[in-house]
Amino acid sequence: MRIGVIGVQGDVSEHVDAVARAMHEAGKPGDAISVRRREDLDRVDALTIPGGESTTISKLLVQLGLFDEIVRRATDEAMPIMGTCAGCILLAKDAGVQADKTKTRLLGLMDMAVDRNAFGRQRESFEADLEIEGMEKPFHCVFIRAPAILRTWGDCSPLSRYKDRIVLARQGHLIGAAFHPELSGDLRIHRSFLDLV
Ligand code: GLN
Repeated sequence: MRIGVIGVQGDVSEHVDAVARAMHEAGKPGDAISVRRREDLDRVDALTIPGGESTTISKLLVQLGLFDEIVRRATDEAMPIMGTCAGCILLAKDAGVQADKTKTRLLGLMDMAVDRNAFGRQRESFEADLEIEGMEKPFHCVFIRAPAILRTWGDCSPLSRYKDRIVLARQGHLIGAAFHPELSGDLRIHRSFLDLV
């Protein structure tokens, strides 16, 4: 299998590395590539969208001619996508006034509403061990200027919460994480993503 990591902005190399290690751990042959052009996108079976700045990533996806094709592949071909942090924001159908003000185009694939920078200045970055549905042991979650998932509806289900906020959700072949699973060294979330491919 070949997994693409949207490589236009953000913590791309950490994702490429985590995906490659997860494939190795799971005994699944394949490779992880950074996706910046349409030709790259055409070659991948699944995609991760890293953290970074969602407005910038969105603009670059449009400029590079990747935006509509990602939506099409996810919708028509059920291509698995995992979005973390900024990537999670882009997967949401609703990202509130901040996305409206900045005219951020959302991929809008998951039935969820997110709040950008939901944890405020004092809590810009923090870490927490959280219970995740279907996992025996807690997951060490790294939050960096993270969004929160305010609510889900339809086929989208919450899988983890920090205090009263949803921070991980899944809708069929799509996963959105408010935190950075690529930064904790724990590859269980990446491995469950690979199971969708
Ligand atoms: N705060 C960023 C945004 O709104 C996301 C931060 C991140 O991806 N680490 O796009």
